[in-house]
Amino acid sequence: MDSRRDFLQKFSLGLGVTALAGLPAVAHDINPVSNADKQLRVAILGLGGYANIVAKGMKDCKIAKLTGIITGTPSKIPEWKKKYNIEDKNVYSYDNMHEIKNNPDIDLIYVITPNSLHHKHVLMAAAAGKHVICEKPMADNAKQAREMIAACDKAGVKLYIGYRLHFEPHTKELIRMRKAGEFGKVMHVNNYAGFKIGDPKQWRLRKALAGGGAMMDVGVYSLNGARYCTGEEPIWVTAQESKTDKVKFAEVDETVTFQLGSPGGMIANCGCTYNFNHVEGLKLMGEKGWAEMNPAFGYGPIRGNTHLGPINQPDVTHQAYQMDGIAECILDNKPDPNVSGLEGLKDMIVVDAIYESIRKDGKKIFINKA
Ligand code: NDP
Repeated sequence: MDSRRDFLQKFSLGLGVTALAGLPAVAHDINPVSNADKQLRVAILGLGGYANIVAKGMKDCKIAKLTGIITGTPSKIPEWKKKYNIEDKNVYSYDNMHEIKNNPDIDLIYVITPNSLHHKHVLMAAAAGKHVICEKPMADNAKQAREMIAACDKAGVKLYIGYRLHFEPHTKELIRMRKAGEFGKVMHVNNYAGFKIGDPKQWRLRKALAGGGAMMDVGVYSLNGARYCTGEEPIWVTAQESKTDKVKFAEVDETVTFQLGSPGGMIANCGCTYNFNHVEGLKLMGEKGWAEMNPAFGYGPIRGNTHLGPINQPDVTHQAYQMDGIAECILDNKPDPNVSGLEGLKDMIVVDAIYESIRKDGKKIFINKA
């Protein structure tokens, strides 16, 4: 097993008050999606590996529907049109996607391009007046994330991050139990995600397209998981990087460990890597109980156990549940389960602090006191 796909398949696969200061407000006037048959019509931007998985998963959707594509590779168009019944008038390139503004067949653009293009593509989608889902990691840094939220807010469109686990039944049950106090106060969290990356030429190893390495790609699962395990937001961070292959990982981080501290005294110890396999799992220890998930972050089946017994929930297609879940938020104006642009920003603030700590040899970084 030496690729990201293997990793995902094998595992079928509140910031503190000070940190919240300065976070942007949410949009006021949201573009209504009005259609008689109550469907959220989606165009995918960037037709790569994960876009294929999303599109396939969306075949199981009840209210989200794939109606359009945006691609820089014309040779991909015939196959996508055929597979997903996409009409010619709903096919765009990055150059003419501003014309989507006048297309009533598309309500939302799902950005699934390399990490460092998310900022640009979300701004383009917002300018086209469409709601947006942006894949993780939201951006290269918190500054970009804030700009993305502001652009969507200004355009009156909603912005979500592709945090599919928040729609996954085992993960939702863990969060429900934590909120219900089943674990008592959560005191410690241990989360790991990673795999041995293959092709040394891929964009995931180029800083200009990936923004960073393992931390950006899979570290965000450990980090976001620490936040949903505790419901608390870190106020300090320490982090370390280990680089054993200075050639392959010349531009990006290879293996990162990081620690997060919350105002209530919880400490999370997390890690991520691009250089070895069998790195997966989430563990939560509370005053009254515990929970473990492994696999915790892949496409499923997710498996969980607690001091009260196994988490028994159905195995579902994550992408279908995510897309119908977000469609419900938009069409029924339902609150989202912590997958908004603001949640992405909260993660990016911590990611910034993690990289700062690494640059400063593990120094404790206090988060966003501004
Ligand atoms: P791929 O390389 O497979 O696909 C990316 C696509 O982006 C390309 O096929 C291409 O589509 C488009 N693109 C536009 N500009 C560029 C460029 N300069 N270089 C390369 N591609 C470009 O990547 P993935 O699908 O694996 O990842 C895309 C995003 O999805 C990442 O942010 C990743 O983190 C996220 N992801 C999320 C997962 C999840 O579980 N939530 C799982 C896997 C990935 P086209 O030819 O159509 O223009």
